[in-house]
Amino acid sequence: MAANVDKKQHYRTIEKTCYGANIIYLILHVFYLVLFIVNHYDILAYVTGGIIAIYILFFFLIKARKYYIYALCCGNLFFGYISVTTIMLGFNTGFHFYLIGLCVVSFFTTYFSKFRNIKGSIVWVGLSLTIYLTLYLVTTFNKPYYENIPQWLEMTLFITHAVVVFGFIAIYLVVFLRYAMSLENKIVNESRTDELTQISNRYGLYDYFENEDNKSNLVLALFDIDDFKNINDTYGHAVGDDVLTKVANLAVFTLKDSFVCRYGGEEFVIVLRNEGKYSFFDKLEEFRKSVEKETFEVGFNKVKITVTIGAAKYTNGISLEKWVELADERMYTGKNTGKNKTVI
Ligand code: GH3
Ligand code: MG
Ligand code: MG
Repeated sequence: MAANVDKKQHYRTIEKTCYGANIIYLILHVFYLVLFIVNHYDILAYVTGGIIAIYILFFFLIKARKYYIYALCCGNLFFGYISVTTIMLGFNTGFHFYLIGLCVVSFFTTYFSKFRNIKGSIVWVGLSLTIYLTLYLVTTFNKPYYENIPQWLEMTLFITHAVVVFGFIAIYLVVFLRYAMSLENKIVNESRTDELTQISNRYGLYDYFENEDNKSNLVLALFDIDDFKNINDTYGHAVGDDVLTKVANLAVFTLKDSFVCRYGGEEFVIVLRNEGKYSFFDKLEEFRKSVEKETFEVGFNKVKITVTIGAAKYTNGISLEKWVELADERMYTGKNTGKNKTVI
């Protein structure tokens, strides 16, 4: 199982599905019981009564979180029940539809199980197919145990099974897809978020660049904290970490409507629009001065820092790498000419 999986959501999905499925199976068997009693199919009524008792016991299995054992028991119980009912009532009652539905359920169970053994599901499909064909052949060459079952009953059972099994397949696949999609979103978001500062990371910048259609008046600025090594050496790495987070927050706060990401280490990238009352240079200078003015309080430490910023306007067709490189070159010009400045 992927390390990032939210276990709570995972088990909630399994638990809800098991309870829901067991209630539906129970209702279905009560429905069969009524039909069999009305038609005096005594053997089937006894068998169904026994199976209803087992489904009630299954609630304890689900409560004990033995989901995999529950799924296995359910599947095998279905195999048995489908075989008995088909042999006794004939192929046209459509009990065999369940075998197709169970194949979908089997892959669902594999996905949510601890072991994720896909081979198990393939064996299950093989077993289902074998039972399906065996029942077809047995009922083709032998009359059903209960002969001449009324047409209304045969039709009722056939239609019920078609509706229930198609419904099953839809529900299981919807649950599976919704779970898989929410997981995918979560993983993508996590992979785009910097763990320390909780702002976007450089992969978020790649996405931003790819998805932004109107780049014409964009400016990319790269800033790097001046003499940050001294901060670590003086106050320790943990304080350095905290300062990085605070600088990231200050950038997001000061440069509202801009894209801010931690590009790596103590380097950040800002993408802002060159529009409105203030030029991009003014906005970047405002940020630089706000860092200079700020006293970052970490525990008992009062840390003062400055940043050097390099910025480059977007030019048509420029690659992100080249754009960052241009801003980086200007940032280094700033570093080599005294630091704590914005170079454009
Ligand atoms: P300059 O003004 O030239 O940028 O000097 P500098 O000391 O900031 O530059 P240098 O590249 O020599 O050092 C960067 C330091 O940033 C070194 C590294 O330990 C520190 N650093 C990088 N990532 C992190 C981090 O995640 N946490 C902490 N605490 N420090 C980091
Ligand atoms: Mg630095
Ligand atoms: Mg650096």
